[in-house]
Amino acid sequence: MTDFARKSFWLADAPYTAGPVLEGDLRVDVAIVGGGFTGLSAAYHLHEEDPGLRIAILESEVVGYGASGRNAGFSMTKIGMMHSFTATRFGKTKAKEAHLYADRAVTLLKGLVEDLALDCDYEHTGFLWVATSEKYSERLLKEIALVHRLGITGINLIDHSELMGRVSSPLYRGPAWWEPNTGILNPAKLVREWRRVLDTRGVPIYENTPVTGMTTGHGATQLFTPAGTVTADKVVLATNAWSHQFAPLATRQVPVWTYIVLTEPLTDTQLDSIGWRGREGVEDFRDLVHYYRLTADNRLLIGGRDVALGDGRSMDFDDSPETWARLRDDVRAIFPGLRDVEFADAWGGPVSATLDMFPAIGYAGSQDVIYSMGCVGHGVSTTHLNGQAIRDLVLERDTELTDVFFVNRRVIPFPPGGLGHKVAERIAGFLRWEDRRLDVLG
Ligand SMILES: Cc1cc2nc3c(=O)[nH]c(=O)nc-3n(C[C@H](O)[C@H](O)[C@H](O)COP(=O)(O)OP(=O)(O)OC[C@H]3O[C@@H](n4cnc5c(N)ncnc54)[C@H](O)[C@@H]3O)c2cc1C
Repeated sequence: MTDFARKSFWLADAPYTAGPVLEGDLRVDVAIVGGGFTGLSAAYHLHEEDPGLRIAILESEVVGYGASGRNAGFSMTKIGMMHSFTATRFGKTKAKEAHLYADRAVTLLKGLVEDLALDCDYEHTGFLWVATSEKYSERLLKEIALVHRLGITGINLIDHSELMGRVSSPLYRGPAWWEPNTGILNPAKLVREWRRVLDTRGVPIYENTPVTGMTTGHGATQLFTPAGTVTADKVVLATNAWSHQFAPLATRQVPVWTYIVLTEPLTDTQLDSIGWRGREGVEDFRDLVHYYRLTADNRLLIGGRDVALGDGRSMDFDDSPETWARLRDDVRAIFPGLRDVEFADAWGGPVSATLDMFPAIGYAGSQDVIYSMGCVGHGVSTTHLNGQAIRDLVLERDTELTDVFFVNRRVIPFPPGGLGHKVAERIAGFLRWEDRRLDVLG
């Protein structure tokens, strides 16, 4: 059992009592492994569709222990890396399809928050993508031109003076990408609200219950945990960055860590030096981006700048004092008015990356075992729509969601063993090199 409260400010910010541990043997229709947004939303959508289904969620620590309780809380339309990358990899039609899926996911999540009164500090603020060097400004302009050529609406350019009127930094160059249909939220509150909703519907969530083994066959799948077993007709592996620990998914993704620092609440003077009355989520256009936003109590949360890659065996890369120090320096460079700001916390967490950095939903070895992973740093909203796609796969229905091109797609495998890690390191090394060469923040 890990001290989950150490894993993010969000998780520590409110008291939490874990649910029961699974003891004994359980027979269900659907067993879901992983209590993040993917697993919880899949359970919710399945229960909505058929309240008679026997569903159980098994979580190795507590809900939100993974990326869902540690992220920056941007509900955004980003999916994969960026539109141009998706268009190169999958073609222009699919790049547009992916965007529409992600946009639908943002709208879905906003609707769920409103309809179910999920108390998660949701604000529909819009999103700004900014450039901090001339070179990245050129790339941003090309990207938005492609988006418009694809026929995507809802994304506009705002000129430099309008950008500075919204959020002011001496590092910003040129116009910015402005996308109103996005939001920010408190992810740990959201994840715990999902637990509340599922509790009231009688869907059991077993916490501190790691699945240590899985066997399939004879019309049922068996999951083994330290104090019990679950036999299920269908299993959902919603284990994200941990997915490689299940043999059928061993080479389909690698865990990649991203890091965050958080300030004390900003004073009025500090906020005035930036503007930021619209409280937009902001990202810069680097390869290894910075992402930043204000929290409900006006702290500045900033993450990104660098990533760490584990070797897959250990998942113990949540701390990176070096990246945290650089992020603190970056805050002072981006917003000089915050030069004296105090920092309150720092943390990190793993995202799931496929080789082409695009999500994948499909079957793991058997049609009775469904997985979803690879949302990298863009899963807050998509995981909620992925939950509906998973529902349809579990119920063996062909729907517009199961027709989406990344459902049941071929996932390019990482080379097995240490080689996969080397490939991922090469990619990260290139991105670091480009940022050093092209961006003012180096
Ligand atoms: C620091 C950080 C910042 C991010 N910022 C954003 C953002 O602002 N916007 C955005 O869209 N996305 C962001 N992301 C990505 C986003 O958080 C994820 O895509 C999303 O939360 C994935 O949800 P999930 O349920 O698939 O996975 P997770 O939340 O990682 O859940 C997987 C769960 O499975 C459990 N598990 C693993 N193995 C087992 C097992 N054997 N038995 C039982 N349980 C198991 C884990 O404990 C974990 O709780 C960020 C991620 C990080 C780490």
